[in-house]
Formats: sequence, structure tokens, C-alpha cells
Amino acid sequence: MNEKTLDEAIKLLQELIQNKCVNPPGNEMKSIITIEKYLKSKGVKCKIYESAPKRGNLIARIKGTGKGPTLMFGPSHVDVVPIEDKEKWTHPPFSGKLEDDFIWGRGAIDMLFIVVAQVVVFVELNQEKFKTKGDLVLVIVSDEEMGGSFGTKWLLKHHPKEMKCDFAVSEMGGVILSPGKFGFMIGEKGATWLRLTFKGTPGHGSVPFGSDNAIVKAAEATKKLFEYKPPATTKYLKSIGKGFGQQPLVRLMMGNKLLLPLILKKMLKTNPEMAKSLASLTSMSISPNIIKGGTKTNTIPAEATLDVDVRTLPGQDLDYITHHINKALGKKLAEEVNIKVLTGEGIVSYGNESSFKSEFVTKIEKAIQKIDPQNEFIPLIYPGATDLRFLRELGVECCGFALMDPRTEFGELINRIHGNDERISLITLDYTLVAYYHLAKEILE
Ligand SMILES: [Zn+2]
Repeated sequence: MNEKTLDEAIKLLQELIQNKCVNPPGNEMKSIITIEKYLKSKGVKCKIYESAPKRGNLIARIKGTGKGPTLMFGPSHVDVVPIEDKEKWTHPPFSGKLEDDFIWGRGAIDMLFIVVAQVVVFVELNQEKFKTKGDLVLVIVSDEEMGGSFGTKWLLKHHPKEMKCDFAVSEMGGVILSPGKFGFMIGEKGATWLRLTFKGTPGHGSVPFGSDNAIVKAAEATKKLFEYKPPATTKYLKSIGKGFGQQPLVRLMMGNKLLLPLILKKMLKTNPEMAKSLASLTSMSISPNIIKGGTKTNTIPAEATLDVDVRTLPGQDLDYITHHINKALGKKLAEEVNIKVLTGEGIVSYGNESSFKSEFVTKIEKAIQKIDPQNEFIPLIYPGATDLRFLRELGVECCGFALMDPRTEFGELINRIHGNDERISLITLDYTLVAYYHLAKEILE
């Protein structure tokens, strides 16, 4: 990209960070209007779809001849997660400060730099009167961080025609695994939040002998769930082993269910973030995260609840989840527990994946090879959930797409997402701009 384009991208990214669209409550209309203003100043027509007061989504389109597939840049979200402790940040988290070739701020990685790359490249293609076969649709949304009810989910329900596409690219991807090997999220895990309720018999706290205490049951359940090991698969690790360019022996171990625990245990000491990420791709994970119970210090509690964050691999459904939760709890606790899915408060989604080998994947690889012919596409599954899952459910082929500064270590990147000192290097922004430009040309021309 030329310097002017990069400068514009930097300015836009800084403004989006400064808009502080922390969700909840979101107030994303601020950033949606920033983007609308930018697009209009460049002669691009777009439309804003308001899903709730102060919350909105934006769609723009470059019309094709109708002879090719439609590519979506997006759905890409402008909302960001809250700050845990701003004292722990080197620069104020909503400053958008540019220092040492990094832009600092909440949302810089997740996922404002991709939003900016998509918007700026869309403008660039529009200005050069890009002749496309299929349409290029730009979709910028609200509310990804809280489940998408005012963003992607809402658009799909209320404006399905505008959201129609064959391919979609959004967060996250282009993570360097080893020289020349970049990981792209071609699928993602599902998230299911459960509330487990245990009942007891109320009584006086002075005579606990033989009592039926709900908290004790919840505590037992917590430990059992934490220690339970759901069935493992190495399906998603095979390609990663290749991505890391590991020695054949290590790759062999990563592909072997029995040897895998050994290598993960070893890795937990040398590269803990990587070990955690890899472990999350081998099975469903169960994390008991909130426990509540009891009302008075002198009363034996009659009820206790345990909220559990369950992350599933593609293909694992609610039956699979409840089967393993019950198995983890053991017969006695399983007979007593009441399991409820927290649909109202939590995100409930199933994991899904697009094909690891397809024309779409080939085109993505071609686009990154325009930057360096040695670059290789390595398919990954994202441990978290993104808006792309909604489109995958409709049969759209989706991939997390960006191209990161090769100096960004995988573990460091994972720590910065939703963490302190979130920042993005100018090289990442520049590479991602170029990568998006080539990708659009590969797919649409
Ligand atoms: Zn995100």
C-alpha cells in the first residue's frame, strides 16, 4: 500500500479506538458514523441499519456483473470489551496513541485493524473502478462481543438479502506459526454456558452432622468438572504441527492421542499460551467459573448454583455436552443436578468449520503468496466464537483473515486480545491492507 493509504488507515484506526465502543453498552453508532463519514468523503454510498438506539450496522456494496461469487468483507465488529485495570496499561487504553510503530488501544487487535483494512481497501477498489464478477459487500456490525443480537444476528434476521454471500472474511487470521507459515481460522469452537443447580435441605448451622448441604454438592461438582477429561481428538493439531515446522518426531506426537498429553505438559513450561491454545483444540473444554449458594452463615444452604463455560468442537451438540457433564459428575450428583442452558445471559453457539481444502482456501493462499511466494496457508480452529459462525450455518465459506507482522509471537498475540496493552504494529496494518487488496482481486476479478 502507498504511504497515503497507510496514513489514512492509521487515522481511522485511532478514531475508532478513541470512540470507545465498549460493549456493554456498545454505543457503536459512534464508530458506524465515523466509517460512514469516511466512506462518503471518498464517494462511496453506504447504508446504516439501526438495530437499537445508539447501535447500528453499516453495509456498502460494489456491484459485480453477476457472473462470479459474492465476497463479504465482514461481518466485522466495532464494539470492544471493557478494560479490567487501566493502571496496568502503558498508554491510556482509549488514546489510540502511535508510538514505536504500534497503535495502542482497546480493540486495536480485536478487531479494529481488520475493520479499517476492509474499509480502506473497499474505498481503494471503488476508486479504481474495479471490474468485479461477483459483488463485494462491506458489512460492519455492532455487538459481536455480547453475542450479536444487535449486529450480525439482527442483520441476518431483518436484512437477509443484503447479507447474502458465498465467501466471508473477518477476524482472526494470518498469525505466524513459523517462517512463511500463517495460520488462518477456518472454523471455531462453540460456546455453551450452563447453570447447574444443586438442592439441599435447609437446617441450623449448629448441627451440620449428616446434613444435606447444597454448597458441598456444588463444590464436589466443581472439582469433578475441572478434572474431567472429555474424549480427545488430534484432528485439528495435524495441520498445526505442520505450521510450526516442528521436527517429524514432535509432529508425530501431536498427531497421537496417547502421546499428546506428554507434549502439552512439556510445552506448558516452555510456551504456556501455546500449550493452552493447542489443548483447547483437542477436545470440548469445561470450565466451572461462578459458584453461588447459601443465604446466612448459620443456615445450611438449600440451594447452590454453578455456572460453567463449555466450549465445544465442531459437531458436538447439547446431547454430547450433557452426556459428558453427567459422566463427569458421577452417578450420584448427576441424579440430583438440574442443568439449564443460559440462553438469555450467555452466548450459545455450536462450533463449525468451513472446508480446509477448497477453491476459497486456494484463493486465500494465492493472495498471501502475492506478498511472498513462500507464504503458506495453515488451517486453524479458533478456540473462541466469532460472528462468522452465523454465516457458516447458512453455508457460507468463511475464514478469519489478516496478515500479521512476522515478529508477533503467537502467545503474545493471544495475551493481547482482551488483555492489557492491546496494540497493533504498523507492519501488521500495512500487510493486512495489501492482503485484503489481493484477496478481493483473486476472488472477484
Ligand atoms: Zn472480535
